[in-house]
Amino acid sequence: MKPKITFFTLLLLGQAALAQQKDLVSYVNTLQGTNSKHELTRGNTYPTTALPFGMHTWTPQTGKNGDGWKYQYFLDKIRGFQQAHQCSSWTRDYAVFSLMPMSELVVDENKREAKFSHSNEVAKPNYYKVEFDNKIVTEISPSERGAHLRFSYPAGGKSYLVLDGYNRMSGVTIHPKENKITGYVSNGQGFKRGWKSYFVLQFDQPIVAYGTWENKQNTIKTDSTTAEGLGKGAYLEFKAGSKVQVKTASSYISPEQAELNLKRELGADKNLEVTKAKAAAVWNKALGKIVVEGGSEADKATFYSCFFRASLFSRKFYEIGADGKPYYFSPYDGKVHPGHMFTDTGFWDTFRAQFPLNSLVQTEMHGQYMQALIDAYKQCGWLPSWSFPSEGGSMIGNHAISLLADAWAKGIRTFDPKEALDAYYHEAMNKGPWGPANGRDGVKEYNELGYVPYPKYRESTAKTLEYAYDDFCGYQLAKMTGNQHYIDVFQKPMYNYRNVYDASTRFMRGKGIDGQWTANFDPIEWGGPFTEGNAWHYQWSVFQDTKGLIKLMGGDQNFTAKLDSVFSVPNKVKVGTYGGMIHEMTEMVMANMGQYAHGNQPIQHMVYLYNYAGQPWKSQFHARNVMSKLYDATENGYPGDEDQGQTSSWYVLSAMGIYSVTPGTGEYVLGSPMFKKVTINLENGKKFIIEAPDNSKENVYISKATFNGKPYGKNFITHADINKGGVLKLEMSNKPNMQRGLAEDDKPFSLSK
Ligand code: CA
Repeated sequence: MKPKITFFTLLLLGQAALAQQKDLVSYVNTLQGTNSKHELTRGNTYPTTALPFGMHTWTPQTGKNGDGWKYQYFLDKIRGFQQAHQCSSWTRDYAVFSLMPMSELVVDENKREAKFSHSNEVAKPNYYKVEFDNKIVTEISPSERGAHLRFSYPAGGKSYLVLDGYNRMSGVTIHPKENKITGYVSNGQGFKRGWKSYFVLQFDQPIVAYGTWENKQNTIKTDSTTAEGLGKGAYLEFKAGSKVQVKTASSYISPEQAELNLKRELGADKNLEVTKAKAAAVWNKALGKIVVEGGSEADKATFYSCFFRASLFSRKFYEIGADGKPYYFSPYDGKVHPGHMFTDTGFWDTFRAQFPLNSLVQTEMHGQYMQALIDAYKQCGWLPSWSFPSEGGSMIGNHAISLLADAWAKGIRTFDPKEALDAYYHEAMNKGPWGPANGRDGVKEYNELGYVPYPKYRESTAKTLEYAYDDFCGYQLAKMTGNQHYIDVFQKPMYNYRNVYDASTRFMRGKGIDGQWTANFDPIEWGGPFTEGNAWHYQWSVFQDTKGLIKLMGGDQNFTAKLDSVFSVPNKVKVGTYGGMIHEMTEMVMANMGQYAHGNQPIQHMVYLYNYAGQPWKSQFHARNVMSKLYDATENGYPGDEDQGQTSSWYVLSAMGIYSVTPGTGEYVLGSPMFKKVTINLENGKKFIIEAPDNSKENVYISKATFNGKPYGKNFITHADINKGGVLKLEMSNKPNMQRGLAEDDKPFSLSK
């Protein structure tokens, strides 16, 4: 008999499918890491209300206009709700304006603040809500280039809304009959003079009264509809006790494009609930790319809060034109181009884990990103290293090549590798006009001596180590694409790490032009030849050749003993050339894990290096220990700066049981997963599953592994294997298996064999 499929059966099936689709967004706490200040950071994040990789994000503002600490958890007053793009408190922000509801018109940002408490706050990616002590309620739900906000004023009270034009040039025009404000802001260091972020605000309630103001003297002009200049803003009055919804969107291209972004993203949304539900669906799909099961609710909250933050950077900087195709205002040449562009990241942080994670779960976007890097080079004259949104050249290294080589190694073919190598060669052979990481600082000496000398160049040993890794990435890309010319160029300098290793102290050290080691060496001294770290942290920055490093250090025993020492030596600090405690030092001391400084990037891959030296179980132990000890989903949830998704991506990869020690090889080194089951839903439709049914807080060691049913002894897995889909099954135990993963073939990639 043929079963009859009725509409009712279909309805039931549909509901069952919906029930299976977990509400992952509910696990995310966007307040994670917000309890931060200048001297001590627990993340330096803000409660970002946004869609994945969204162009504009929204947040409540507790800090003054222009302050990098835009939202600090320990404060109890909010002065506005702003459009934001910040990477980290240290970068401040750009293209900001804010809105603030009130019952009495007070424009001064210091006087209009309203008290609130966290118990009256909801902080989710798709929805932020706060009720002030004065009973005014603000709600925000995001779109990619805008937001839907609602301000609910108490019955009987007056209903004002102030638009603050932030700390530089701005312009506003009020359209009272259309219940609309249009305008622009032009603020932020990397947002060059004359560039504009055009906004449009469409209200659903009639404007009763209005005026403009400026935020330097806080003077008000009633009934004025337009203003342009430093910090110019607007205010509106609505009927008493109103509930006002406003849809807003912004564009870097034109006011017309801002209208188009609004119409396309929010036009059909009758109310905020629609935008909120749409945003929840987008996030559940994005977070559903990795489904974790069989861990505590707290661990899931940490995982999805980290995965959320890993899914914010880099930001889409392109917009969809009237013809449905992507266009962008280039932050490099200030012109509008067809195609995709991304910005807001510092590769020094993010080449390590954030981009390797994106390559795995955002493959299509990652391909667009690689072409955007080459386009950025053509428009800027230099490959990006720290974009915010234009090129800042901050930090050290030329790590764009790490992204490009890694993408190619993972089968992403969206760019011309010859163009990428030409761009990198230009980067590696020249010093750019601004910033230490714009081109190569100390390039002449690096090429002549094989290292960057100290003290002629600051942070020189860190630079030598990272240049050598970057040169390896150039070599890799050349090798994978059969480019003999560039193989010849980069095959020698990729070993330059050897030139800054001092066998007598068994540390990487500063070295002078005369070949002499920098005197009075102390491995706990920060700065000098190192970047935001000391010799304990930089010892391991030989991503491309851990085996070669092991040889330099006298073999496996010496190497693993030194890894052990990182955790067992005292957590003491010598401030060195910094002249005082910087927050990274304070965070290392607080973590109380010896010289292990997970709050900053240089050492973040270190726990995985035992895999290269015959003690993989120690990688498993330490990876789990760092995850459990240094992360949670609360306002104190990070061990230091989060840094554009990097510190979150470390957690996301580690919690799956893998980590990207050497981007450019397509390998992920094994650690120990946090969950009994992890399913990666790949964009190619396949699933890769990591099963560890006996996993628990105690059972952190891998005693046995099978891959697609066959015994698996390797301490790594390749991107290609993951991409095919399959099951990596791990038997977990509370005792290490000291026989697994010891063979040479089991060890992850190293240049030296
Ligand atoms: Ca950092």
